[in-house]
Amino acid sequence: MNAKKRLDQSPDLVLLPLGGTGEIGMNCYCYGVGPASAREWLMVDLGVKFGDERDPGVDVILPDVGFITKNRKKFQGLVVTHAHEDHIGAIAHLWPQLQCEVHCTPFAAELLKLKLIEHGLDEEVPVITHKPGAKFHLGSFKLEFIPVTHSIPESCALFIDTAHGNVLHSGDWKIDLSPQLGHHIAEKRLRELGEKGVDALVCDSTNVLREGLSPSEKDVAATLHHIIAHAPGRVAVTTFASHVERISCAVRAARAAGREVVIAGRAMRNTIEAARKCGYLKDAGAFLDIEEFGYLPNDRIMLLCTGSQGEPRAAIARIAEDSHPQIALEKGDLVIFSARTIPGNEKEVGAVINNLSKLDIDVITPDEALVHSSGHPRQGELRQMYEWVKPKVLVPMHGEPRHLRAHAKFAAAQGIAETLILEDFKIARLTPGAAEIIDEAPGGRLHLDGKLIVPAEDGPARQRRKLSFAGIVHVSLQVSEKLDLRDVVLKADGLPAHMEPDLEELAEDAFTAMPRARRKDDATVEEAVRTAIRRACDDIWGKKPVCKVTVLRS
Ligand SMILES: [Zn+2]
Ligand SMILES: [Zn+2]
Repeated sequence: MNAKKRLDQSPDLVLLPLGGTGEIGMNCYCYGVGPASAREWLMVDLGVKFGDERDPGVDVILPDVGFITKNRKKFQGLVVTHAHEDHIGAIAHLWPQLQCEVHCTPFAAELLKLKLIEHGLDEEVPVITHKPGAKFHLGSFKLEFIPVTHSIPESCALFIDTAHGNVLHSGDWKIDLSPQLGHHIAEKRLRELGEKGVDALVCDSTNVLREGLSPSEKDVAATLHHIIAHAPGRVAVTTFASHVERISCAVRAARAAGREVVIAGRAMRNTIEAARKCGYLKDAGAFLDIEEFGYLPNDRIMLLCTGSQGEPRAAIARIAEDSHPQIALEKGDLVIFSARTIPGNEKEVGAVINNLSKLDIDVITPDEALVHSSGHPRQGELRQMYEWVKPKVLVPMHGEPRHLRAHAKFAAAQGIAETLILEDFKIARLTPGAAEIIDEAPGGRLHLDGKLIVPAEDGPARQRRKLSFAGIVHVSLQVSEKLDLRDVVLKADGLPAHMEPDLEELAEDAFTAMPRARRKDDATVEEAVRTAIRRACDDIWGKKPVCKVTVLRS
């Protein structure tokens, strides 16, 4: 038997990330067990990443799950660690390809259900719920949801046990010893797993660059309580729509200060409804309708709203522009940004804060007071997790390349024997033997472009980026049977207007300069005129627009 064949047939436990190692967002990790020729697959999380100005017109980026679709016979299903968009956001878009069972906690199921309804898939997708702490299995994968603390209810790590080794997939987590809602981190169970032996820990890297420990939600609650108690005017708190624990803390602070609470923003109302269905926010009391906001005394009201990332259509952005139909704030009022600004959103958040400042409204952000704490582990918490779990191998995930590299270095410095830095689409063997990259899967990413899913590489967004930089010129040339030019029509978009007449003349010159024999071939004419136009634009303007040439024969 040759070496390659032996490798194919030796049973192992492998990890293939389709998203999440190389970016924060779009998490999708596939675990495979068995020999390469007959591997069973399990998917953990299927999230989105949000688009930016590099891909104009693309709101959402999705992982390409084509590799799993091709191996569907051996695909056992999808397990969701928690209900954040970067972990569940792509399910409704990609489920039609995958056609699999989705396993998650009751709270994640409630939020997922809303998305499936939007896509008309709620009757089709088998969503199976398990409480945090539950054990279940998919194919030959024995699974266990291990409760962890994070910034959304029912977040879990996933312990995956197989005949060929085991792995603890951390999900997103922090160590909060005083959570204000939901379960504690399952320290005892994590220690037990550590005692039995964890082969690999695949672990959140988001905050590895930060030393020390994350502040507890209890401290954030105390800060909110203090600020809201002393605020003379109206108070608005904006946070992540899904942060039920923060919503709960803000509401408690409002109640203690004798304030009624109004909720603005559909996503936040949805989360609250989902949370209540699962038994959370029982002590929060009733919320007032948005219409009542204007009728209460200034010091008797608190608004909880979306838009902490500067989203232009969200409530706080419209309030800051003084264009919200029901809610207005004014001098003496206070807005608390109870959320960190996700990298990339700084400009948008800055614009909202500037607009609020123009209205003479006070703003408190996490830079000024402890009004937010991240849900991801800093170095002190990572060290603690390593001590509990004692993994043989550490694989960093949920990070950009700089986070993954720093995490591997940090883990090695803490005495973890093996670390392995992965990239999306690389297949790594976790056990048996030394962890290493053994193969690669074909991959890419997808854009949700309007209603369609299209490939990101060489897709329409790339063309639109070119158009946004230098515009477009259309040239139509009407050519007679005798190969003379009858007419030229030139239309340009996104070019300085006074260039158009010059360019029309130039197109004419480029055509007439061609020998008659060459004028017979459309492609030759198109290329000559296109080159001439682009070269002239570069000379005059310093930019080369996209140029489309059509030859009409008559
Ligand atoms: Zn995440
Ligand atoms: Zn998360």
